Amino acid sequence: MFYESTKEEPVYPIRTAAKILNISVHTIRMYEKENLIIPFKKSTNHRLFSKSDIDRINCIRSAINNSKISINGIKTIYAMMPCWELMNCAKIDQNNCSAYLDHHGPCWANKGENTKCASKNCRDCSVYKDYWDCGSIKKFIKTKLKSI
Ligand code: SF4
Repeated sequence: MFYESTKEEPVYPIRTAAKILNISVHTIRMYEKENLIIPFKKSTNHRLFSKSDIDRINCIRSAINNSKISINGIKTIYAMMPCWELMNCAKIDQNNCSAYLDHHGPCWANKGENTKCASKNCRDCSVYKDYWDCGSIKKFIKTKLKSI
């Protein structure tokens, strides 16, 4: 019987993901190095990708190729996501966290060592999973502003 994986299930090895996306393995590795993506890592350190990962990388590709946004630009957009709101971070955590204080990259690349995020697996976090395109980030900010 044919097995249908869920959207979040990491099933594609990096070569397959590259083939689906029509890009090189090197490009996917570069996106990981730049902290745009967090692939699932097996105990052997091999990376696996889900359908959601493929959508996310497609969105990154479109931002670069169609909207002419640089990788640094994408990192800055991710940095604008108010993760401390979603995570309900205490003021003391916010003031110890580069993700709150700086705007140079996504929170998962800048989380403070002594904050509640320190031991979390960012791949499983809603900030990483649910807010990876401009539309969803803007929607979140609009909802927040409405409630002020
Ligand atoms: S757990 Fe990771 S992705 Fe989630 S808010 Fe903290 S640093 Fe960001």
